[in-house]
Amino acid sequence: MIHKKSREEIKIMRHAGNIVALVHQEMKKVVEPGISTLELDKIAYDVIKKNKAYPTFLGYNGFPNSICTSVNEQVVHGIPSKDVILKEGDIISIDVGATFRGMVGDSAWTYAVGKISPEVQNLMNITEKALYAGIEQMIPDAPLENISAAIEDVALANKVGIVRQYGGHGVGYEMHEEPFLFNYRTNSNIIIKKNCAIAIEPMLNLGCDEVHTLADDWTVVTDDGKPSAHFEHTVIATEDGPVITTKLM
Ligand code: MG
Ligand code: MG
Repeated sequence: MIHKKSREEIKIMRHAGNIVALVHQEMKKVVEPGISTLELDKIAYDVIKKNKAYPTFLGYNGFPNSICTSVNEQVVHGIPSKDVILKEGDIISIDVGATFRGMVGDSAWTYAVGKISPEVQNLMNITEKALYAGIEQMIPDAPLENISAAIEDVALANKVGIVRQYGGHGVGYEMHEEPFLFNYRTNSNIIIKKNCAIAIEPMLNLGCDEVHTLADDWTVVTDDGKPSAHFEHTVIATEDGPVITTKLM
């Protein structure tokens, strides 16, 4: 069942999304060589709490922290740690969720730590481009497959790997609602409903498509150890076009 959001629900989701965007605004400022991913988690927690929201990830299926911090070959679901200290040349994907008045905003962004290699910068650019290509297709009554195809086309044109085990999802009162959104074509016949909300989130790899989960049962890494990038926005398909909730109001 895909939930259509009422005008009031859209308002609340935009508020939740704005809080997520405030966290990312802060992350952009503080991501630099020498900071630990646990310090980032604390800063994110404080921003979310200050804005009277709840960090959606905290306790979600037992997840121990407020944000996911995935460094270099880590794709998603990295656990913040005092022992993971960012260094020059790293990239870090930070995934943030905030629940405000019961509704969720979900957005991830990959950040460069100091100066990074041109090929990794290019991977980040491609992944961000894939996200916005997908967002453009978030149109009421259009096939959901259009979003998947737009993301896949950007990835294929740039010869990067596409993470296939994870993808986007409906979002609202729960972080993960129907439908699941693949980042490649699957012959889905799902139609995008007016005022439905979907978290669109391409995860693209510098090398192969394949990923696996580490022994901590959370951290997903690329099989070949090459870097991965992740860009995500929560988007509502309105009659006036796609509305990104997870950007600053
Ligand atoms: Mg997310
Ligand atoms: Mg998500």
